[in-house]
Amino acid sequence: MAKESSSTNPTSVAYKKAVLKLGLKKNIGRALEIPDRELTVEVPFRRDNGEIDSVIGYRVQHNNTRGPFKGGIRYHQHVDIEEVRSLATLMTWKTALLDIPYGGGKGGIAVNPSNYSKTELERMSRRFFRGIDPIIGVNIDIPAPDVNTNAQVMSWFMDEYSQIHGYSPAIVTGKPIELGGSEGREAATGKGTAIITRETAEKWGIELNNAEVVIQGFGNVGSYAAKFLDEYGCKIIAVSDVSGGLYDPNGLDIKSLFEYNSKNRTIDGFKQGKKITNQELLALKCDFLIPAALGSAINKSNVNSIKCKAIIEAANGPVTGYAADSLWSRKIAIIPDILTNAGGVTVSYFEWVQNLQQFKWTEDDVNMKLEDKMVKSFDEVFSIKQKNKVPMRIASFMVAIDRVANAYNLREG
Ligand code: GLU
Repeated sequence: MAKESSSTNPTSVAYKKAVLKLGLKKNIGRALEIPDRELTVEVPFRRDNGEIDSVIGYRVQHNNTRGPFKGGIRYHQHVDIEEVRSLATLMTWKTALLDIPYGGGKGGIAVNPSNYSKTELERMSRRFFRGIDPIIGVNIDIPAPDVNTNAQVMSWFMDEYSQIHGYSPAIVTGKPIELGGSEGREAATGKGTAIITRETAEKWGIELNNAEVVIQGFGNVGSYAAKFLDEYGCKIIAVSDVSGGLYDPNGLDIKSLFEYNSKNRTIDGFKQGKKITNQELLALKCDFLIPAALGSAINKSNVNSIKCKAIIEAANGPVTGYAADSLWSRKIAIIPDILTNAGGVTVSYFEWVQNLQQFKWTEDDVNMKLEDKMVKSFDEVFSIKQKNKVPMRIASFMVAIDRVANAYNLREG
């Protein structure tokens, strides 16, 4: 999809508006916008047929005023330095908003992982991690999964790092439980999304029981969000993945679909629901529309067809700045990514703490602490929104930027 101009990048638009509202000094506003460090690495690796291939990887460290850089690593053919920079910046505001002691970073490799075998992906992942080794560390920069990376990729990262530096589970989060991963981490982003949807329903006066929900994307985030919202009593009327969408106005059988998708890695071929396209899915009338796939899904070209009451941004940057302004004028609420999907990095933080203490929490411990963090952050943002009469995104940025700016002033003063 063609990118809209950078003036409609929702992160930079929201940043500028929030800085203005906060009355932040110009020099501080500028200092906090610029990334601390950016690294581009060439990643050579051997294909299964013996040939050498080579791809480009990135790690951007945006800001570490409040703690080590933190953020995922994605594998996708559209990854470039601009995208990674913007996502790294988003992580700084996300960790600040949740008040967890981290800064923001992000990484990625410009590659379509479905073109490679598992052994090729392993060699590529290990080589990439060696490439960024000089700038990461348990108290410096802690990567995690993101689009198209998972617990297996984190295991390779951890192993590669541990071979150089000694056993270091805390170097990445989102690991398998057997290697020091946390209970509840895999489900955390989807669970957080469901909690935020529940809180939105309450504040916006939408009945949660039988609320109609549409979810774009049925990967880790979308599938778990569907699972928990189904448990809350919502009616999930449509979901989609790269194969297209499934629609049933009476509600899809999410328990069976979740199982089907875990087994087959696609929703294609599931017994229930009418087949629809991704664009038709986004245009369905519903209470909550949850984009849980890639950035810019809702943009200039389709924003006028949106008919939900609220958009819950489970993906990072799924609504462009242009589309956000248009939705605001139509009184369609947007609950921003840095709040909605922060459950992932929050439980990453819990995982890191457990690794550092060499101590294991139960799933109930993790889920209780996650629930507290999400609800507290939602309430904080909502009260700033009410006080300043601004959208939830601007209110979220105001809370986050204020936190980083205060820490920055204390350290630099
Ligand atoms: N990639 C996830 C995000 O965008 C998780 C990051 C993490 O756990 O560090 O928030």
